[in-house]
Amino acid sequence: MNQETLALVEIANADEVFAAYGEVSHDLFLDEFEERVKQLARSSDKIIKLLPHKLCVLLNGISDPLQIELAGAKLTRLFEPPICVLDEEVTVSIHAAFVPPAADCPDTKTRLQMAESSLSEARRSNKPFVIRDASVDTSPTIALKRAREVEVAFERGEFVMYFQSQVHAGFRNVVAAEGLMRWHDPENGVRPPSDFLPYAESRDVMRSLTWFAIKSCVAQCAEWPEGISVAVNVSPILLLDSELLPNVQDALAIFGLSAERLTIEITEDAVIEEPAQALEVLNELRAMGVKVSIDDFGIGYSSLAYFRDLPVDELKVDRSFVSNMLERPKDRKIVKAIIDLAHNFSMRVVAEGVEDNETADALQELGADLLQGFWFSKPVVEAEFRKLL
Ligand code: C2E
Ligand code: CA
Ligand code: CA
Repeated sequence: MNQETLALVEIANADEVFAAYGEVSHDLFLDEFEERVKQLARSSDKIIKLLPHKLCVLLNGISDPLQIELAGAKLTRLFEPPICVLDEEVTVSIHAAFVPPAADCPDTKTRLQMAESSLSEARRSNKPFVIRDASVDTSPTIALKRAREVEVAFERGEFVMYFQSQVHAGFRNVVAAEGLMRWHDPENGVRPPSDFLPYAESRDVMRSLTWFAIKSCVAQCAEWPEGISVAVNVSPILLLDSELLPNVQDALAIFGLSAERLTIEITEDAVIEEPAQALEVLNELRAMGVKVSIDDFGIGYSSLAYFRDLPVDELKVDRSFVSNMLERPKDRKIVKAIIDLAHNFSMRVVAEGVEDNETADALQELGADLLQGFWFSKPVVEAEFRKLL
């Protein structure tokens, strides 16, 4: 079991500060924010930058409620002194969410989704920090109840694949789509993955959802023009599932899609936890002709040792580096480094989270191969996606 507590920390008044002090305040302010958050961590702790004003810290060996309370108090204290921006003292307010280790939240991405929902709670109640109550939210009864709701919704056919376009960086024509799941909940409308994936992770229902995602993506793609491919997300716990390869193979055979048009997106943690077995699965997928992509690249394990042996075709630069690369030269450098690294290993690069044309142009200049983001299209139902082709 994971023995680290995940802490998600964000600046609550970032927009006000930037509005009051202008662009020049960005770097100074954000660097100081990062510095202070680092003081919460020990050298063995990992810090992941999700957005310039939102950091995630994995607090190694911190698991009991008292330790977490203390960490929360320390964090609050760290942000008591104002930050000096252009000779002015600016008070920083922060919100934080702590997710203690628990048996039923296996991978970092899922735990991040839990932390995001706790962070919304901290914002709503305007508390400096909240600790996700393991005995409430992740108690077996509630988790089971939620998992059961998801299961019932699945049986009722309420899950739908949405598609977000990926365009060629130079020509800007659509060349692929990423399948992103939505829950058409009759009571609450269209719900994002963060509302259901955390509860599906630990249960068989995750398998049903994933096999469904693979099947629908393959089925839809088979109806699109030849040049358009499709990408499906596979969560780390399913990469080693014995049904994955047969399911992929069956879907391709049933719908008559050539394997090259399917990409499987996984995150780095899928490879880190069981490297030998994971590499075997990736090799088998590639032997079938399926492409493999590393999602959210850059925020995870920056170890290059494993990278050398990784059988992958594509890296997806994480949105957190792309979204502010125009204002933040350091982010732009990271994006460039990832693109160069990928190209040196004959991988292609998809940049995620492109929200404006200037960013698209900058990415094209840096050599990104494909671009994805709201600037081109949000994830939409298949009928809408087809209109983009
Ligand atoms: P992801 O794979 O990193 O997907 C990209 C997410 O970024 C999507 O969120 C997408 O809507 C969002 N996004 C795309 N472009 C932009 C942009 O320009 N700006 C901003 N702000 N956001 C953008 P979504 O759909 O909420 O999905 C969240 C995560 O849930 C996904 O992250 C993926 O890890 C997971 N997920 C979604 N569908 C599936 C699925 O079918 N199976 C599995 N295992 N996971 C899924
Ligand atoms: Ca993805
Ligand atoms: Ca991603």
